[in-house]
Amino acid sequence: MKMKKNFDYFDTLLPQSVGSKTGAIAPDIIPSAAFGYANAQEAEGIFSGEIQKPLYARMGNPTNAQLESVMSRIDGGISAIATASGMGAISMVLTALLKSGDEVLCIGGFFGGTYALMHETMPRFGVQATFCDVDDFGSIEKKLQTGVAIVMVESIGNPNLKLPDLQKISDLCHQYQTILIVDNTATPLVIQPLQIGADIVIYSTTKNICGHSAALGGVAILREVKNGGKLYQEKYLHLEKLIQKAGKNAFLVICKKRAMRDYGMSANAFGSFLTLLGIETLSLRMQRVKQNVEIVAKLLEAGLASGIVRHPSLSFHEHNQRYRESYPMGCGSLMSLELGDKKRAFKLLNASKLLTQTANIGDNRSLALHMKSTIYRDFDEKSLGILGITDGLIRLSIGLENPEDIAQDIIEAFQKI
Ligand SMILES: *Cc1c(COP(=O)(O)O)cnc(C)c1O
Repeated sequence: MKMKKNFDYFDTLLPQSVGSKTGAIAPDIIPSAAFGYANAQEAEGIFSGEIQKPLYARMGNPTNAQLESVMSRIDGGISAIATASGMGAISMVLTALLKSGDEVLCIGGFFGGTYALMHETMPRFGVQATFCDVDDFGSIEKKLQTGVAIVMVESIGNPNLKLPDLQKISDLCHQYQTILIVDNTATPLVIQPLQIGADIVIYSTTKNICGHSAALGGVAILREVKNGGKLYQEKYLHLEKLIQKAGKNAFLVICKKRAMRDYGMSANAFGSFLTLLGIETLSLRMQRVKQNVEIVAKLLEAGLASGIVRHPSLSFHEHNQRYRESYPMGCGSLMSLELGDKKRAFKLLNASKLLTQTANIGDNRSLALHMKSTIYRDFDEKSLGILGITDGLIRLSIGLENPEDIAQDIIEAFQKI
C-alpha cells in the first residue's frame, strides 16, 4: 500500500470491509467473556497460539477481531489490537515495550491525557520523557543519538495545531533504529503513518472513527517486524525472547503478553460494534470535515478580528506550506480561536447556539472547549507553555453541519463579547 493522496481507495474499502456478504451483513456482537474449547488438546493449542480461536475476552473477542482486521487494512499493518480507550492503546504499547530506565522522546504538542501519562505517571515507574518542539531537529537528533527507546508524535498537535514533518522524523528514527509511534487520532485516513515509516499507529477511535460520541475505544496498528531490523538493537534486548518466538508478528505478541494480559485494557464487543458502524462512513465524513474546516477557517478569518482563528490552511499559519504540500486530504477537524483572555473566551462559548461544549473531538457535531480551565487545569505554567495553552484558547472540532451555519454562529457569538 502506497501513500494515498485522495479518499478514492477508502471510499470502497471501508463499506466493503465491515460486515459480511452472507448471513447477517451487519457485524456480529459477541459479548461472551469466556469461550469453550472442544477438548484439552484444543485448549493447549489456543494457549500456545497454534490454534487461532478466542481464548478469553481479556485477550480479545470475535467482534474486536473484526474491528482489528478492518483497522489494520486501513493503515496497511500486519495486525491491530482494539483497546478500551485511546489512552488504553497508548499505555498498552508503552508498558509493553519499555522498561525502567528507558527514555521516550515526545515531539510536538500532546493531548492532555498523553502528556500527563508521560510527564507524571511513567516517571513513577522509572521511564523518563523529554519533550521538544516539532521543528527542533537539533534536539531531536541529539536525543536519538543518546539512545532513546521510543519516539512519540501526534500527527497534528492537539490543540496547538502544529504539523510535524512526519517523513523527516520517521527517516531519523530509521537512521537511529528507534521505534516510532504516531498518534493518528485526529487524522484517520488522511495521514497513513505506517506508509511514512512509523512502527505503530495509535488511535482513540472515540473520535472521528466512531464519530457519533457513542463508544469509547482505541486501537494500536502494528507493523511487521523485520528480521535483523529495529527491534534487534541492543536497547530492545529485554524483548528478545518474544521477538524470537513471534517473528514478524512480534509487536502483537509483545503487546498482548506484556500489557493486555496483565493490565486488561481490553475493548468490549458492543463498543467495537458501534465503532465498526462508524467506520462504514468514515471516508465520507473525513472528506466533508476537510471541506468544512477550510471553509469555516476562511469565513472566520474574514469575519473575526485578525489573529484570532488558527488553522494550517490559513496563509499566515507557520505550517501553511507544509499543509499545502503534504496534507492533500486535510488535517482533521481541529482549529482554534485565541480570544486573549478567559473572560472573552467564556463569553463567546456561552453566546454560541450551535457549538456543543464538551471534552471530545472528531464528532459529527461541531464541538468547542476552553482549554486552560478544563483539560489542562492541573498543569503548571511550564507544561502549559510547552503545549501552547493560553488563557484565551478555545479548541474547536468542526463537524458535518453546513459550514456557513457554523461560521455564522461563531461570528454572531463574537459580536456579543
Ligand atoms: C482523545 C485522545 C486520546 C485519548 O483517547 P480516549 O479514547 O479518550 O482515551 C489520545 N490521543 C489523542 C490525540 C486524543 O485526541
